[in-house]
Amino acid sequence: MIRAVELIQRKRDGGELVADEIAELILGYARDEIPDYQLAAFCMAVYFRGLSPAETHALTDAMVRSGRTLDLRSALGRTVVDKHSTGGVGDKTSIAVAPIVGACGVPFGKMSGRGLGHTGGTLDKLEAIPGFRVELTEDEFIAQVRDVGVAIIGQSDDLVPADKRLYALRDVTATIENVSLIAASIMSKKIAAGAEAITLDVKVGDGAFMKTIEDARTLAEAMIELGRRSERRVACLLTDMDQPLGQAVGNALEIREAIATVRGEGPEDFTELVLAACGHLLSFSDLGVDETEGRRRAEAAIADGSAIEAYARWIRAQGGDPDEGALEGAPIVRTVEAPADGYVGSLHALPVGLAALRLGAGRSRKGDPIDHAVGVVCVKKRGDAVRGGEPLAEVHARTEDAADTAVREVAAAYDLADEPPARRPIVLDTVV
Ligand code: URA
Repeated sequence: MIRAVELIQRKRDGGELVADEIAELILGYARDEIPDYQLAAFCMAVYFRGLSPAETHALTDAMVRSGRTLDLRSALGRTVVDKHSTGGVGDKTSIAVAPIVGACGVPFGKMSGRGLGHTGGTLDKLEAIPGFRVELTEDEFIAQVRDVGVAIIGQSDDLVPADKRLYALRDVTATIENVSLIAASIMSKKIAAGAEAITLDVKVGDGAFMKTIEDARTLAEAMIELGRRSERRVACLLTDMDQPLGQAVGNALEIREAIATVRGEGPEDFTELVLAACGHLLSFSDLGVDETEGRRRAEAAIADGSAIEAYARWIRAQGGDPDEGALEGAPIVRTVEAPADGYVGSLHALPVGLAALRLGAGRSRKGDPIDHAVGVVCVKKRGDAVRGGEPLAEVHARTEDAADTAVREVAAAYDLADEPPARRPIVLDTVV
């Protein structure tokens, strides 16, 4: 018999729950036997009291057991790798990493989500590619990872259904920002989707959930511990999200930048992050190479063109047109000009993400439509020298009114300085 009140009370008073008790709560909730208000109270108790590593593992395990799971090792007889980000502005990393890793002979299989708020989702970006299908069946997903080496698809409804409900509940009860709840939410989905080796990109800064490096490190350590308990190899890159990643923010614009990067012509910060992620993923694969050799192979795949060929094979396999010329462009392109000579002292990620959202590149509410063509290109990034009147950024808009607003918002996201700011690398730290 479920004793939800007693369990909530114990957590509220700082006690510890055993695995069966947490499973009772989570699986009871998933079966509709425990109402939203009791789970909301439980999440608030967790928010204030926290969960021990054993409790966090029990929560993750119960969430995984709430739905179907995939075992990609049994299906493919190979170590399949996956990559996930906690969400940022201009984050198209998976779209560049997947074909590079695939070109190096390592199967890449990822189930992904849609964007909400100022951070875009990988699926929305991929849907900017004409014809691209994100809804593959489980069998099609496995066959594509086996035959093509790369697949990124939408998360099926029966993958961790408890997280779907719990996340929506946390969203409206101010209980998102708890390390154990975030770690369990992310890792349950990664574990259920079946990859054995996972690189997690934990974003740090004003455009991310984690505002400080210390909080990001705590989250990274919690996720690595969950991976260890579930026999998954996990590496966490803690990466800068004080400014947008790369230059492009907006779906088709980000696909163009991912393509350029897979060809070796991408922005420096984004290329660095992609290579770091590839190095870790290849070192976790069954190739038997270390991270340095993994990175070298990723660089070679970009340089010899095999990565861009893998990109085209992958996109075609999912029904899409890999030609960059097929991507929709916005009818209006305006520049944001530098008001004076100087250096870009800072470029705030959050206002750029919000400007792109208001242009139509993202959604404020679940189910809102997305305009794939619009967005922002940050031509100048932190540390770049500019002359007055030179373009700082481009706004790609559907209407003149939307362009006017976005130009003002993006201009306000830039602070100019007389001296260049201290250099801040894209990868701030790595936790393994
Ligand atoms: N991303 C998730 O999938 N879950 C969280 O709780 C936070 C970010």
